[in-house]
Amino acid sequence: MTYPAPAAPKEAPKNLPDVTEPKSAPFWEAAKNHVLVAQRCGDCGDVRFPYVELCPKCWSTNQSWEPTTPEGELYSFVVYHRALDPSKKDDIPYVIGRVVTDEGVIFNVRLDTAPGEAVVGMRVKASWHDVTDEVTLLRFAAA
Ligand SMILES: [Zn+2]
Repeated sequence: MTYPAPAAPKEAPKNLPDVTEPKSAPFWEAAKNHVLVAQRCGDCGDVRFPYVELCPKCWSTNQSWEPTTPEGELYSFVVYHRALDPSKKDDIPYVIGRVVTDEGVIFNVRLDTAPGEAVVGMRVKASWHDVTDEVTLLRFAAA
């Protein structure tokens, strides 16, 4: 008796964000143009990411997406040595950082920085990765 050859392993899922989700779609649309946007409160001016229904400072629902400075400082980081997401197994080790932009917006984001080169306090700037025609991912890299 012969057995069929094992099936070729399927390509790991890309695990891409749903860029059509209405609450975050404006962010992804701006990302396609390599423009960093954040949500700004129309009443008190608070700026933040990600989207929230109510301003955490004044409880206003008057929110909009507006361009924000794409540069800032690396506040902290971790180095991933295990791929918890199978689609990232070829990328390890990689760095996930908490970036605080010059406008004070916090992004928890992957860095285009080798693990040994990440330093708390380093200057970073937005780095865009066009993954598909619809999805552009934000990372930050050394400025
Ligand atoms: Zn507000």
